[in-house]
Amino acid sequence: MEQESRDFIRSRIDEDVQSGALPGGVVTRFPPEPNGYLHIGHAKSICLNFGVAVENAGKTYLRFDDTNPAKEDESFVQAIQNDVRWLGFDWAHLTYASDYFEELYQFATNLIKYEKAYVCSLSGEEMRKQRGTLTEPGRNSPYRERSVEENLELFSRMRAGQFGDGEQVVRAKIDMSSANINMRDPVLYRIRHVRHQRTGDDWCVYPLYDFTHCICDALEGISHSLCTLEFEDHRPLYDWVIENANVNYHPPQIEFSRLGLEYTVMSKRLLARLVEEGIVSGWDDPRMPTIAGLRRRGVTPAAIRDFCARVGVTKQENRVEMNLLDFCVRHDLEKSARRGMGVLEPLKVTLTNWTEGVLQLEGPWHAQNEALGSRTLPFSGTLYIEQSDFSLAPPKKWKRLARGEMVRLRYGFIIRCDEVVMDGDQVVELKCSYFPDSRSGEDTSGLKPNGVVHWVSADQAVAVKIYEYERLFQVADPTAGSLLDDLNPHSVSIKDGFVEPAILAAQDTHFQFERQGYFCKDSENEYSFNKTVSLREGF
Ligand code: ATP
Ligand code: MG
Repeated sequence: MEQESRDFIRSRIDEDVQSGALPGGVVTRFPPEPNGYLHIGHAKSICLNFGVAVENAGKTYLRFDDTNPAKEDESFVQAIQNDVRWLGFDWAHLTYASDYFEELYQFATNLIKYEKAYVCSLSGEEMRKQRGTLTEPGRNSPYRERSVEENLELFSRMRAGQFGDGEQVVRAKIDMSSANINMRDPVLYRIRHVRHQRTGDDWCVYPLYDFTHCICDALEGISHSLCTLEFEDHRPLYDWVIENANVNYHPPQIEFSRLGLEYTVMSKRLLARLVEEGIVSGWDDPRMPTIAGLRRRGVTPAAIRDFCARVGVTKQENRVEMNLLDFCVRHDLEKSARRGMGVLEPLKVTLTNWTEGVLQLEGPWHAQNEALGSRTLPFSGTLYIEQSDFSLAPPKKWKRLARGEMVRLRYGFIIRCDEVVMDGDQVVELKCSYFPDSRSGEDTSGLKPNGVVHWVSADQAVAVKIYEYERLFQVADPTAGSLLDDLNPHSVSIKDGFVEPAILAAQDTHFQFERQGYFCKDSENEYSFNKTVSLREGF
């Protein structure tokens, strides 16, 4: 897919482009707060913001919304850049809200001068009490009618560090009886004696999101400020700040629905809890819905872009099924991943009539994609097949190996199971004979084996750990309140398997293990593979 359908935002942008309303072209921004790693919900916003700019020969800002120094960190700034690039996008400008701290301070000063803002000395608790509810209007602050001079002086003393955290705030002077609670004299500036990762100790007053975001959009000439639906109720404030602070350009804010995924959480705050409490191994744990986690699991950037395109851009809130992402991953890897042999639960096979030592067979990396070339496959008298490819009591029409039955070893020979070696009720080894005239491609045996199974040669195969994952949560919509109870206790299992040597030797990281699924070399641990997705839905 990956082609862009005309969603309501793209239609709006088309109209604006055609009407000549955009002298500066299409300019968008992706504005993450550097307080965690990006997740697949952010990917939706990234694909939209960068996507519409690319489609219209415009440009995109990557702007870090770094106005909350207590929670933010430089390591997140780096990780976010890395993830955006990995997804296949590049920004025209890298900026930070903190680049504009001086301008923002001046705009707040403007509001005070125009009697549109005041310094309020109520405590946070008192302010909350006076804010009212959905059904009751709020009450005016006793500090609301301070003079412009007094407000200006207090604001400059706030900046100079003469007050402690929470002692004063700057509030917009709008309407304490507004039906929209966001408009009831919202706080624009607060005092935080916290070192900022970029501006150090230059500032101890920090602007709040609703004040910062619209002004940054205006200063960067953003033509379409695209955000998620929870900001719809903030749009009147966005517009109010721009109109009242004497900002000379007014970007339009347009909202679309957030992406939700079943059986996981999609909030940096909750994901951070999983990391901090050691429930996952880190932000890039392959079970995490983070971009880093998905990458480590083997999900490709093309699959994520395809997924976002299929989900589309609408105003309907929805939780998408994980299956859709799995589908997109298969769709991408089907064509591009080399196909080799990996045995997850090995069962030893001894060929009793084998006298050839180690034979080098040849097999294509992808039967439908010759461009991927071929590799040699060592074959010998001691092999491993999958335990599940043998049955002591085979059902009717069994397509695999059983006592007295034959199968073909892919790209190799037909074998017959002559004897089963048991240890108690465990099958520990199969003694088989092979048919020398049944070699793949030159088979003159006329034999009809049950089916074809994958295998590796025991001495040449490489022992690996194979991690298989299930959903991280056992309920479709885990919530903050029951986060730990909602976890799936079986979200990871580890197998000791073997892969053919060419898989380890190849540069590729993504492979199909024939008949098993798609797997990916783990980026942190050698000789470890993560299962990305099974070959078919429902496994
Ligand atoms: P989180 O709660 O996960 O931290 P956030 O919205 O606070 O989410 P930001 O870093 O502020 O995270 O988000 C950057 C951009 O990504 C915002 O424009 C936001 O609207 C968008 N975004 C975040 N989550 C989603 C989502 N689930 N679906 C679509 N867009 C999202
Ligand atoms: Mg946020």
